[in-house]
Amino acid sequence: MKLRLLIVDDEEDVELLFRQRLRKMSRDGQVELDFAFSGEQALDLLQQSAPPAITLILSDINMPGMSGFELLEKVKRDYPGLKVMMISAYDDHEHEKKARTLGADDFIPKPVDFKRLEERLHSLAEM
Ligand SMILES: [Mg+2]
Repeated sequence: MKLRLLIVDDEEDVELLFRQRLRKMSRDGQVELDFAFSGEQALDLLQQSAPPAITLILSDINMPGMSGFELLEKVKRDYPGLKVMMISAYDDHEHEKKARTLGADDFIPKPVDFKRLEERLHSLAEM
């Protein structure tokens, strides 16, 4: 199964980073990448494609406007089948616990360990 990822982060540099680091998986047709630079923009993108073509959201937590936690809550309420992975510079138990309580499927600290992320994406793609 091809994974369609929506990466949400207010730092626009992440687009280049993810495009570079996931280049092999993209080239092999295993993933397709979409980007949003705010929670609001992410929700707009999801609404444009009903049923959502996105299979997995990877979201930053700390963003101006809608936080990653707010986005997570709305996505889990409106698109319960969609998986959400939180990515955060706060690598601490409290943030991870809150993310899991709100329904996050996974929690990855920043800077992203792309080798580990790829392994997780491969196992999701096999589901
Ligand atoms: Mg941020």
